[in-house]
Amino acid sequence: MSDHPNPFDFVAGQLSLDFVNTVANRLDAKRSRDLLATPANLERWFREAGIALRRGAGDTDVRAARRLREHLYALFAAAARGGSFDATALNAVDTLWRRLHVQRKLILAGGRVTYGWSARATPFQRAIHPILASAIELLESDQLGRVRQCEGEGCGWLFLDRSRGLPRRWCSIRDCGNRAKARRHYLRVAKSG
Ligand SMILES: [Zn+2]
Repeated sequence: MSDHPNPFDFVAGQLSLDFVNTVANRLDAKRSRDLLATPANLERWFREAGIALRRGAGDTDVRAARRLREHLYALFAAAARGGSFDATALNAVDTLWRRLHVQRKLILAGGRVTYGWSARATPFQRAIHPILASAIELLESDQLGRVRQCEGEGCGWLFLDRSRGLPRRWCSIRDCGNRAKARRHYLRVAKSG
C-alpha cells in the first residue's frame, strides 16, 4: 500500500474525522501505519482535502498536525464509545484554537470587510484552521452521538453515521465491510468443511 499513489480515503463524512483517519490500521500495532509521516504526505493530504497550503509543510508542521490528530482521536473515539472526554485533549484543542484566533483579524480591502488572517499567521495555521473548525462544530453538535468507530479488525477509523436504518458498521464497504464479509464466508466454509 505504501507505493499506492493515493492512500488517502475520505470516507468519514466529516473533515475532522477524515483527518483523524490518517493512521492506517490504527488499532493493530503490527500493521499500523502513519499516513502523515512526512511533510510531503501532509501536503498531499491538505491538497486532497481541498485545503490550500500556501507554502510547503515542514517537519514542525507534521509534528503539530499529528499531535492535533491524536487529541482529536482521543475526543472522538471517546464519543464513539459513549465514554467521557479526556480533559487534556480538550485543553490542547482549546489552546490551539485560541492561538489560531489571535492571528485572525478584520481586514478592510476595496471598501469591504473580511474576517481574515494577520500577516504573521503561518501557512500551516491557515491550513489547519478548517480542520479545527470542523472538529469544534462536531463536538458541539448533536451529531456527535453519530460518531462511530469502524468494526473492521484493527481498523479503528472513525466516521459519522448518517444512515437512517441499520447503523453503519464500517469505515467503507469496499475495504473493511468486504473483509468482514470474506471472513464470515471463510468461517462458514471452514465450519461446513
Ligand atoms: Zn475500517
